Amino acid sequence: MASKHPEGAYDVAVVGSGPGGIMAATVAAQAGAGVALIERSDRAGGRLDLQVQILQGPRSIYRGHSGVAFCRGLLNDFDAAGGQLLLNATVSAVEPPSRESGAFRLTYSAPQGPAAIMALSVVLATGSVEPAANFPGADLGGVLLSNDVQRMVNVEGRLPGRRVLMVGSDNAGLLIAADLMDAGAEVVAVVDEAPAVVGREVNAAPLRAKGVEILTSTRVLAVLGPATVSSAIVADVSGQERALRVDTVCLSPPRAPDSELAFQAGCPVHSVDVLGGPVPIHGRDMGTAVPGLYVCGDLAGVENGAVALESGRLAGLSAARGLGFSHPDAEALERLARARLGHLRRGRRGLARRQAKSELGARLRLL
Ligand SMILES: Cc1cc2nc3c(=O)[nH]c(=O)nc-3n(C[C@H](O)[C@H](O)[C@H](O)COP(=O)(O)OP(=O)(O)OC[C@H]3O[C@@H](n4cnc5c(N)ncnc54)[C@H](O)[C@@H]3O)c2cc1C
Repeated sequence: MASKHPEGAYDVAVVGSGPGGIMAATVAAQAGAGVALIERSDRAGGRLDLQVQILQGPRSIYRGHSGVAFCRGLLNDFDAAGGQLLLNATVSAVEPPSRESGAFRLTYSAPQGPAAIMALSVVLATGSVEPAANFPGADLGGVLLSNDVQRMVNVEGRLPGRRVLMVGSDNAGLLIAADLMDAGAEVVAVVDEAPAVVGREVNAAPLRAKGVEILTSTRVLAVLGPATVSSAIVADVSGQERALRVDTVCLSPPRAPDSELAFQAGCPVHSVDVLGGPVPIHGRDMGTAVPGLYVCGDLAGVENGAVALESGRLAGLSAARGLGFSHPDAEALERLARARLGHLRRGRRGLARRQAKSELGARLRLL
């Protein structure tokens, strides 16, 4: 159990228990801070925890683990550091410290009703959101977000349907299509408006090998019911339409940072295409314009799980340091995080992200 302040406030509250949040919470707890890690779901681990396949990314970080196994390891470290995990708790508001309280107030809803905790510092690690679809029939039963499909297949062990249309060919869409096929569903096609497959060829090739059509420059015109999905009408750029007989449409659109809570807490947000959309303005230490409020993971820019971990490490170190706690390995951990982030952000896209990050830092200094 984490130590609490006499006033009843935690030192650090971390919202969201994906890899970014767990890492931030662990590092802050190892530094000696009393930490609460708050998660809306009934299990910790975020999106990485829904991955039953071997994680893609640096072997030096993932060591050949599946997402589920890797997240168990992260959580063991968090437990060992003495943090407290609150599950089934959806944070709906983060109020910055008032003069009287001197602490942030986090309101959350839990099965037993609304509740609140106080914390001297907050790390937001709320991850990303999948924008809702806007084609006719998007509200029919059987039209599902990829997050829900992945949970059904990989956590609950049930299929959302038998014949699936995957909308979106990024790595997430391709990997979830593979999960669906492994679980016994037929993936009728993967469609994407983009002119080429968005994800890596290594994720597309196994689907093609199993006969899945990957239709690029193609969009969904409508999904037909009556009450649940019976078919989907897709069209290519020339307007050529096709009806696909499916009972499930899985949506895997490009994800955007889930910046609503940060915005509502008073963090100015700036939209950056290469980071997925509206990102809370933050600096190198992951601090925002609100003193004591830090961000990390996909919220600070949609990249990947390895980046989320390292930005979480920086956010946790900064939050602890800001309260006067010193991690015994702070310097080495910060060097490790920065070196890994540099390595992860190489290549044309990586460089654009690195540049976007320093521009956000410059914006922060102007606020
Ligand atoms: C299908 C798929 C496969 C992937 N495979 C890989 C891979 O192989 N390798 C890799 O490096 N990356 C992979 N990724 C990307 C990786 O999963 C993400 O980049 C990473 O999970 C982001 O971590 P995060 O901590 O920022 O957020 P998330 O993992 O999204 O976690 C955010 C957490 O915050 C919680 N939360 C949000 N709002 C609130 C609130 N208001 N109150 C309480 N809790 C809240 C959510 O429930 C969630 O648990 C994959 C992603 C997908 C979708």
